[in-house]
Amino acid sequence: ESTLSDLKDKIKSYPDFPKEGIVFRDIFSVLRDPACLRNILDLMVAKIELLKWTDVDVVVGLESRGFILAPLLAVKLNAGFVPVRKKGRLPGVCKEIAYTLEYRSDVLEIQQDSIHQGQRVLIIDDLIATGGSLGATCKLLSGLNANVVGCLVLLELEQLHGSKNVEAPVESLITF
Ligand code: 5GP
Repeated sequence: ESTLSDLKDKIKSYPDFPKEGIVFRDIFSVLRDPACLRNILDLMVAKIELLKWTDVDVVVGLESRGFILAPLLAVKLNAGFVPVRKKGRLPGVCKEIAYTLEYRSDVLEIQQDSIHQGQRVLIIDDLIATGGSLGATCKLLSGLNANVVGCLVLLELEQLHGSKNVEAPVESLITF
């Protein structure tokens, strides 16, 4: 518990980034510290064990900060890593989903052959705000008949209730 509050204290916040009115939580302020990086991984694995989400085939990471944590966790869980990216960045046949954010809409893609029917999938990102990204990713994976066991993020912006927009269970290590 002290480790978690230490981590929370070390996450730097940047007011008005990337635009006015947004307080940006910078995970790189903790990832650069070797002890913090190890703690984050250990705490995420402990949470995954507690939730019984260990038995997964694939860890899906969201572009771009999900790409940092997802492969590290995949190695720990003996699972593979699959990226979900912004449209136009993955080769081959892709499945896409459009989703609307507050001011704009975006399209996410996954390689069609990257997940097989019935595979157990854990989704990882750095942060959940409105839940738009994770919600769209869950729908994308449902469309491939994957079995999404849950989503785990490092940070959750609690007052936005983003998990309501995600069809799978969402868990976080640290809430703001
Ligand atoms: P959502 O789709 O839940 O509204 O937004 C979550 C996505 O936006 C995540 O992929 C996350 O990387 C990014 N994001 C939004 N706000 C922040 C922030 O304050 N800090 C970080 N690190 N990422 C953010």
